[in-house]
Amino acid sequence: MRHVDTTLSYAQLLDQQDALASFRGEFYQKEGTIYLDGNSLGLLSKRAEKSLLSLLNSWKELGIDGWTLGENPWFYVSEQLGSSLAPLIGTASEEIIVTGSTTTNIHQAVATLYKPTAKRTKILADELTFPSDIYALQSQLRLKGYDPDEHLIRVKSTDGRILSEQAIIQAMTEDVALILLPSVLYRSGQILDMKLLTEEAHKRNIIIGFDLCHSIGAIPHELSEWGVDFAVWCHYKYLNAGPGAVAGLYMNKKHFGTMPGLGGWFGSKKEKQFDMEHMLTHAEHAGAYQIGTPHMLSLAPLLGSLELFQEATMGRLREKSLQLTRYMMDLIEIELSNYGFIIANPLEDHRRGGHVYLEHPEAARICKALKANQVIPDFRTPNGIRLAPVALYNSFENVHRAVQTLKTIMEKEQYKQFENTREVVA
Ligand SMILES: *Cc1c(COP(=O)(O)O)cnc(C)c1O
Repeated sequence: MRHVDTTLSYAQLLDQQDALASFRGEFYQKEGTIYLDGNSLGLLSKRAEKSLLSLLNSWKELGIDGWTLGENPWFYVSEQLGSSLAPLIGTASEEIIVTGSTTTNIHQAVATLYKPTAKRTKILADELTFPSDIYALQSQLRLKGYDPDEHLIRVKSTDGRILSEQAIIQAMTEDVALILLPSVLYRSGQILDMKLLTEEAHKRNIIIGFDLCHSIGAIPHELSEWGVDFAVWCHYKYLNAGPGAVAGLYMNKKHFGTMPGLGGWFGSKKEKQFDMEHMLTHAEHAGAYQIGTPHMLSLAPLLGSLELFQEATMGRLREKSLQLTRYMMDLIEIELSNYGFIIANPLEDHRRGGHVYLEHPEAARICKALKANQVIPDFRTPNGIRLAPVALYNSFENVHRAVQTLKTIMEKEQYKQFENTREVVA
C-alpha cells in the first residue's frame, strides 16, 4: 500500500496548496454539511444565481423585446452558449446546441442519424447504462417498426461494474447501424475509451454517440478530434446549472444539413424562422436540432455557471478531481479496511471519472446515516454508494471529514438505526 498521511493537518495542507481553493467561495454551501452529491445535482453558485436573476430582470424590463435586446438576447442564447461549452468537450461552437433534456436529445439525435437499411437495423448499447437512455432507444426502434428485444443489443459486463472495450468492439457486427454508450458509467465511474470506440465504429461504418452526463465538467474530451458523431449531456450534475436545467447536444459538422428527425420551428435558420412558412428551412449547424422555444429560466443559470469553468479551466479541474478521488480512495483503504467496503470504481487515473463508487450490503442505510451526519452521498440500488468530491467546491478537508464520519458510523454501527431500503428519490 502507498504511504498516505491520514492526519487532518495533511488535508489542510493540501487545501492550502490548492490553486482552485478560491472557487469554493463561489458556491452556496450549508454550514457544517459536506456535499458529495455533485454528480447528481451540483450546488448553486453565486454566478448562476446572478445570471438567473439577470434573466428574470430582462423579462421584467423588456417583455417581448427580451428576445432580441438586453445583455443576452434570448433568441440567440442556446447557440451562443456553444462557445463556452466547446472547450469542455473539444468541439467547434457551432456543433453544440443547448436544448431539451438528455433524454429528448437522445431522441433527437437517434431520430436524425439512425437510418436502418435492410441489412443494418440494430442499435448497440450496454447493460450498465442509465435506464432513460435505454427507454429512448427502445422507443426509437419501435417507431421504426422494429422489436427492441431483437434489435437493441446490450453489451454485457462480466462483473456488473465495468465494460470491456474489446467486448463492445466485438459486438460491432455488420447489422449494427448506430451505437450509444456512456462516456463515464453512472455507477462505477468507469471512463470508456471514446477515441478507440469511435475509430472502431467508423471502420465498420457505424454511427457512434456518447452520453456525457457523468463526464462533462469532470473530465476533458476531444470529441471533434476523435470524430464522434453526436453526444448528449445534462447541465445539472457537474455543470451546476440547477434541477432540470436545459441540456446539451453535439452534432458533428459532417452531419450538418441532415434533416432533423424531430422537427420544430426553433430548428429554423434564424432569419427564416419568423417567415412562418410551413416548409422548415433548418439551420446549417447544431441549432437545427432544437425543437421548440427554449426554456429560458432553466437555461439562464448556465450562463453564470460556465464562467467558473472558463476561469478554472478543465485541465486544472481534472487534475484536482483526480487528486481528490485518489486521496479519498487511499483514506478509505486505510480507515475502513475492516468494514466490508469494496472500491468498485476503476483505480487507474485514465479510467476513473469524477466519483468514487463503494459497494456494501448495507449501502442504503449507510447512506441514511451519512445524511443524518451531514455528509451527503448518493445511493444507487441495490448496494452502491457514490461519493463525488467536486473540484470546484469540495476540499481535501471535506474528504477527510467524510471518511472519518463514515468510519464512526461503521464503528458504532449507527447505520443500524435506519432501514436498509431506498427512498423514493435516490
Ligand atoms: C442524469 C442522466 C440522465 C438524465 O436524463 P434527463 O433527460 O436529464 O432526465 C440520462 N442519462 C444519463 C447517463 C444520466 O446520467
